[in-house]
Amino acid sequence: MRSRVWKIGVLCLALLLSGCGSKAVPPRAVALAVSKVTLIDPATRTVRPDSTIFIDDGRIVAITGPQDAPDYVAAEEIDGEGRFLIPGLIDMHVHMAEHPVLAHFSGPLFIANGVTGVRDMSSDCWEPRGDESVCIDHMRALSARIEAGETVGPHLLALSSDFVRGVAYRKELPEGAPDFYHPETAAEARELVRFLKKRGVDFIKSYSSIPPAAYFAMMDEAKKLGLPVAGHVPRAMDVLEAAAAGHRSIEHARVLLYDCSDYGTSYRAAIAAGEAPDDETRLRETLDGYNPARCKAVLDGLARSGVYYVPTHETREMDARAGESAYRNDPRLRYIPEPLMDQEWRGDLDETASVSSAVSALYVHFYRHGLVITRMAHEAGVPVMVGTDANDTMVFPGFSYHDELGHLAKAGLEPMEILRAATIVPARYLGREDEFGGIAVGMSADLVLLEADPLLDIANAAEIAVVIFSGRVFDKQAIEALKENVAAEFQR
Ligand SMILES: [Zn+2]
Repeated sequence: MRSRVWKIGVLCLALLLSGCGSKAVPPRAVALAVSKVTLIDPATRTVRPDSTIFIDDGRIVAITGPQDAPDYVAAEEIDGEGRFLIPGLIDMHVHMAEHPVLAHFSGPLFIANGVTGVRDMSSDCWEPRGDESVCIDHMRALSARIEAGETVGPHLLALSSDFVRGVAYRKELPEGAPDFYHPETAAEARELVRFLKKRGVDFIKSYSSIPPAAYFAMMDEAKKLGLPVAGHVPRAMDVLEAAAAGHRSIEHARVLLYDCSDYGTSYRAAIAAGEAPDDETRLRETLDGYNPARCKAVLDGLARSGVYYVPTHETREMDARAGESAYRNDPRLRYIPEPLMDQEWRGDLDETASVSSAVSALYVHFYRHGLVITRMAHEAGVPVMVGTDANDTMVFPGFSYHDELGHLAKAGLEPMEILRAATIVPARYLGREDEFGGIAVGMSADLVLLEADPLLDIANAAEIAVVIFSGRVFDKQAIEALKENVAAEFQR
């Protein structure tokens, strides 16, 4: 970059000496331009019609309006007239790593759907087990191949530890894994954090069953070592306790519902005493005990704490619709590898659908109530981020992202606020807002060109004409090829 500026400087000097003046500087050659487009920048909440974006070396190098002199000339120009340009979308809750095939097939599907960045929630394991699981080294290598343009996939913006669970899961540990891997005591939790720091993970993924003593020690040690903790809030604790302990992001529209209910306190107490209520009791009491004033106080507390919220309404929709034949026969299953459907999804669907009709009706209410709480959280100032739980049952990498945007619209968030939850809010969470989540000079050229205005209807975010990933262009034909290659590889 510096050498280029220097060359331009010498050129200017030469032109000035020859009396031509700076106006005569030839336009700078860049790789790509998107011309005359309506630019929508969620980072600044601005809309700029008739803009032209110049891209070189994977970065945005200039943005001009209709009155500006054209100082750049692009080798390739994409006609943006009548179209809308948004930053690449970020999915803050995906599972690309639990099985090698997930990393392989998910990447192209994310890109094909405009998802150019993800946070992976299960990137590590105790040890690689052949074809069964991959660990952090594999994911780092995948990330390097993606960044080098050798593999199609989104930026892997954060890679997690293995799930940190409670002692009940120790029996599932592979041979040789130490007990502290699923900690029970404070000392074990501290040992685990030191171990994870050495593994080189970007953050610790917490799960529901960590005992509170281990959780608090884990949070304290993680703070000391500068390792963020995100994921499930342990069932025995409430969200404010977790937020106060430094939990960075709360996942899934579930825990907040307990804390918004008068039932929450007795639920936590029952869990702590090892007396988990049955599903019908848990769901019914949570819904019946809903207390808006209590909820408001909890959400205000969360907003003050700075914790983020990733509701993944897709997962609650799965609970609510597992028995529906239209839902189970989603045409997008053609993109899903048979082993994933056979060994994971179908069993989960069958089990979820096998509940009593009372529980199944409660699942529907739970899903809808989750939407209400998300809206309240957003209004209280809790930063909401889009996450899908991609590759969990019936959550299709990339495709389901647009369904999740639809859930947020149903919750009552305005399109611009949804776009922010999809771009700049995640970028800020990750401390990468100078590179991602907006459209400005110097930022990574991750952009999605849309055929229709997403501010009129967020469903238009799925009307994709072109995806640009680090300056690399995927037009409609290339997008179709990405999808069809996956479908062909996993033909059922
Ligand atoms: Zn998950």
